[in-house]
Amino acid sequence: MLVRRIAVHVLLASLAILAGCGDGEPDTRSGQPGDGNGKGWALAVHGGAGVARGSLSEEQQRAYRGSLEGALRSGVAILERGGRSLDAVEAIIRQLEDDPLFNAGKGAVFSNAGINELDASIMDGSTLACGGVAGVTTVKNPISLARLVMEQTPHVLLARDGAEQFAEAIGIERVEPSYFFTQDRWDRLQRVKTAAEQRTGGGTVGAVALDRHGNLAAGTSTGGMTNKMYGRVGDSPIIGAGTYADNTTCAVSATGHGEEFIRHSVARSIAALMELRDLTLQEAVDFVVHQRLQPDDGGVIAVDGRGNISMSFNTAGMFRAAADSSGHHEVGIW
Ligand code: ASP
Repeated sequence: MLVRRIAVHVLLASLAILAGCGDGEPDTRSGQPGDGNGKGWALAVHGGAGVARGSLSEEQQRAYRGSLEGALRSGVAILERGGRSLDAVEAIIRQLEDDPLFNAGKGAVFSNAGINELDASIMDGSTLACGGVAGVTTVKNPISLARLVMEQTPHVLLARDGAEQFAEAIGIERVEPSYFFTQDRWDRLQRVKTAAEQRTGGGTVGAVALDRHGNLAAGTSTGGMTNKMYGRVGDSPIIGAGTYADNTTCAVSATGHGEEFIRHSVARSIAALMELRDLTLQEAVDFVVHQRLQPDDGGVIAVDGRGNISMSFNTAGMFRAAADSSGHHEVGIW
């Protein structure tokens, strides 16, 4: 049994090295801002996978980098003063939901019915409490409604009319569906409908964090895939697929082809490989992203209880940023 376990380790480590080499640039880092006893903090943010090389002008790259940097900083401010990882995750995602550059909240993509159907989820790794919403159309910040599902209901996931009714009852900020309209996303729907464009995901947002108390949290928010069927729900609001957090292992937020992420229970699988196979965060992430998912499916950001951060993807690029209490700070696209 032990021999088999060691053999699996060696195999996975080699695969991880090979997969990392294939990307042409390092897709990970490994720092130790915490000692596992709750002193340091670590944070990672993504703004969606799938951005093709050469597809953004210098100006657009600057805009994306600036938005990611701004979101990262709002999370850092919370974690630096000893705030909760859950609060940092929610604050970061709210900021990106309000930013039309990303496919979440304002700027979300359109379904085939020509409307914005929003999904989000959040999880507290210290208690395994979690909440999600699917297919909401009037909630300005779906990530905050997901948190209220977690904190104010006995349930984990509320969908569509039921989620809207809960939003009404709890008094969270709501908007006319037209608030979510952006010309760029509308034009993309027309191009996808006439099959002039294939790639339909991208721009989903997520955050994972370890706070100074040793608590992990993760959250994800999205408009889903352009031209998705009316009523389609992706991985982002599904705990264990798009989002997962458990203090004993890691916090994960995913982005990419949602059906594949649901099929492979991506976020929970990464945690399970750490828990049951004793893999490191990077080994677990690389196995799932590079060996389970298919090329071009997407990527994840993840952080473990020691503050190691992993940001791996099998697409050309993934909007991402990370920082930790040891001084590490990065923003990347490809
Ligand atoms: N995972 C999202 C979904 O399938 C889309 C994305 O991350 O690009 O709904």
